[in-house]
Amino acid sequence: MSRRNYPSAFMHPFSHIPTLEEEGPVIVDRGEGVYIYDDRGRKYLEGNSGLWNVVLGFDNKKLIETAQRAYAKLPAYHAFFGRVGQAALDLSERVVKLAPMEANRVFYANSGSEANDTVVKLLWFLAEQEGKPHRRLLLSRKNAYHGMTVITASLTGKDYVKSASGLPVKEVRHLTCPHHWREALPKESETDFSQRLALELEQTIRNTGPDYIAGFFAEPVMGAGGVIPPPEGYFQAIQPVLKKYGIPLIADEVICGFGRTGEFWGSQTYGMKPDIVVASKVITAGFFPMGAIILSPEMTERIDKASAKYEELPTGFTTGAHPVGCAIAMAALDEIEGGAFANVKARSPEFQKQLRAMADHPMVGEARGVGLMGALEMVADKKTKAPFAGNLDVSERVSRQALKNGLICRPLGASIVLAPPFIITDAQISELFGILRKTLDEVYRDIA
Ligand code: PLP
Repeated sequence: MSRRNYPSAFMHPFSHIPTLEEEGPVIVDRGEGVYIYDDRGRKYLEGNSGLWNVVLGFDNKKLIETAQRAYAKLPAYHAFFGRVGQAALDLSERVVKLAPMEANRVFYANSGSEANDTVVKLLWFLAEQEGKPHRRLLLSRKNAYHGMTVITASLTGKDYVKSASGLPVKEVRHLTCPHHWREALPKESETDFSQRLALELEQTIRNTGPDYIAGFFAEPVMGAGGVIPPPEGYFQAIQPVLKKYGIPLIADEVICGFGRTGEFWGSQTYGMKPDIVVASKVITAGFFPMGAIILSPEMTERIDKASAKYEELPTGFTTGAHPVGCAIAMAALDEIEGGAFANVKARSPEFQKQLRAMADHPMVGEARGVGLMGALEMVADKKTKAPFAGNLDVSERVSRQALKNGLICRPLGASIVLAPPFIITDAQISELFGILRKTLDEVYRDIA
């Protein structure tokens, strides 16, 4: 029975149309801490922080007040032609100091996709200006998620996204997904698996020619691929290969940046030394659209040199470095550095303990994660790791049943993904896993 007379004029991104037609949308009305409420007053524990981003609570007063003050002072301005709000200058100074590598410049976009897209543009800009116009190939991994613009959807290594629009563009190559549990050979250790993937990388570079490759994109932990932490020794094996051939490493920290993995950056958790870091989502705790590209001094110098000919950097976005967004980001960093990050560190052991305890459920093949992020991968057979038949849509069913039980958790492939707000308490972690276990039991009873 249609609740909202669907379809409506609103085009829903990444939403299941038959479900919408049958049930209507969940109209989100308000939020409070780690909970949101729909327009019928139903309460949900937000196990995904919205889309990994609303980490400081859905009613964070400091951020709201900061936004109100910033709107009252300078509600809008751009950053072209040498004009800029003070907050953008302050934020940039702060971000380069916080960066996981030596860094000295930040460029602002409006989303993670735009930021990654701009990185590609800058890499191609350097290729052109440095006399290597053929240096255009971009390396990514299967199951990666880097965005939804044409180039970033091409970097995204999810099959349905690619095939849906005839992507990737010809400049992108996808390497093996570094998921040990699914992709390793029988009895292959994590470090051996990592070595094999480094060899694959080197072979790919040699086959195409190092001079043709513009950069290697990697999330420290693959997020939308289903929370896949890298196997032991992965970046330690990959990075020397990139260095050997002079290929920049771009750490897509859109999810991991600012604390999610239990270190301030995913790069620190996994020993990455990137040339460029891309941040978004958490930088404003979801309260304002923002993407940030953080550059090493070497990248900055090359971009400055290449730009000199044009007497300006030949790119920019109308609302990039928005004064209100930058003020909110400063307040979000105050909150993160002032206690929320410490809470991630303090709560992560309990979160991981309860996550891993779910592995005893008959439907769960792997429970994996790090910090305050995790996934449960559903299997029909724990021994063979055989997935459930596609038409059962098990992860989708779990997510829909969880919604009925008051928990928001996201189905990604065969996995259920969790990434609660940084401010979650131990009691709320227990509440989350209590609802999830009840939900898995209900779905299992249905399909067994
Ligand atoms: N990169 C990563 C790792 C992401 O998870 C996402 C979004 O989920 C993006 C990039 C794209 O960000 P946006 O949706 O803000 O364009």
